[in-house]
Amino acid sequence: MKGSPLLAVDQALDQLMQLAAQATLQAVEQVGLEHADGRVLARDLLAPADSPPWSNSAMDGYAFRLAEVAAGPLPVSQTVFAGTAPDPLAPGSCVRIFTGAPVPPGADCVQLQENCRVDADGRVSSTVPLRVGANIRVQGEEIGAGAPLLAAGTVLGPVALGVLAAQGMEQVAVRRKPRVALLSTGNELAKMGAPLAPGQIHDSNRIVLKTLLRRLGCEVIDLGAVGDELALIRAALEQAAGADLILSSGGVSVGDADCIGSLLREGGEVRLWKLAIKPGKPFTFATYNGVPFIGLPGNPGSALVTFLVLVRPYLLRRMGVVQVEPLRIPVVAGFDWPTAGNRQEYLRVRIERGRAVLQATQSSGTLLSAVEADGVLEVPAGKTFDMGELLDFISFAGVVGPGSSH
Ligand code: AMP
Ligand code: MG
Repeated sequence: MKGSPLLAVDQALDQLMQLAAQATLQAVEQVGLEHADGRVLARDLLAPADSPPWSNSAMDGYAFRLAEVAAGPLPVSQTVFAGTAPDPLAPGSCVRIFTGAPVPPGADCVQLQENCRVDADGRVSSTVPLRVGANIRVQGEEIGAGAPLLAAGTVLGPVALGVLAAQGMEQVAVRRKPRVALLSTGNELAKMGAPLAPGQIHDSNRIVLKTLLRRLGCEVIDLGAVGDELALIRAALEQAAGADLILSSGGVSVGDADCIGSLLREGGEVRLWKLAIKPGKPFTFATYNGVPFIGLPGNPGSALVTFLVLVRPYLLRRMGVVQVEPLRIPVVAGFDWPTAGNRQEYLRVRIERGRAVLQATQSSGTLLSAVEADGVLEVPAGKTFDMGELLDFISFAGVVGPGSSH
């Protein structure tokens, strides 16, 4: 690996996407809408019914037959509330109607009450010109029965669930959750909750990755923190049988005697990449006893960025999600970047009045400045820029959940 050229992030992502597409999780389960937040729609859905199911008033007001409005004030022949079924409009009359109430057959427009005059004898006229269809939400105008509603691979969120509920659905077919076996490696990692012996540190990656995985809709098999010893790691991985992915952090750099690499090389094809990514760089993809294995770098900032940029889209694609890339929003750089790097860089920034402000600390060894950041600015390798230039921003809020799950 030493001296080999760095692999571009896009190329690594392409390879991961191909691997993921060959290993899509096929099993489907039926879940109630209440339990479907963040789940991935398994099949294309057609609308079972028109939405709205009948034409209804968008306003509180009076429903008329337009041709009769000009004749002068009209008596009110009925009052229609939401949730009731109106009689047809009696000729030569109008109807008191409220928002959401079905429009009576024969009525073709609604005037809002503010634009109506009611005479002393209770007859109503419109004070403002009307047109056919005014203030009526027409049956099926949102979607007609039989039309495509949501596509397979859509990540369900509160709004999508509302669309399904509006169609009268109580259950939905979703892909099963991926099972991910997670471990941290490093002789320096203390037991959870135990005081630190000299030279030890606490394991922060595991809770970061575990939480990210769960938010992505995965079930996590927590294999704990394991020392840099092949036998120990092998023993821990026995519990990973049946997992869809093994995810480790640490032990992929040369300083660890490439512990994870030596383990994986025993088991077949290993892709050890030196990625042109900062923070990041060492990254491993392999198969261990038939289970796909991704090894992330141990530095907390590197593990976070490589997860968000590479592991997240990989897992989403395996879950059958179509839109796996994070949403990139151009924002104005609030600082100069005079020196080009040879790796694609993810800078922690805050967004202040539409400008990206650089966090003082960018060290891959720390997490705190990432908590205070709104997200990362993506700076391509070889790029310099001046304050005011537009660059792609990836919001943490957009990538710590299962894709575009609104
Ligand atoms: P490695 O990739 O194993 O060479 O680790 C790089 C750096 O990340 C070292 O400073 C490690 O101590 C640190 N590190 C590794 N694993 C973790 C972890 N689980 N939590 C926090 N820091 C870690
Ligand atoms: Mg290590």
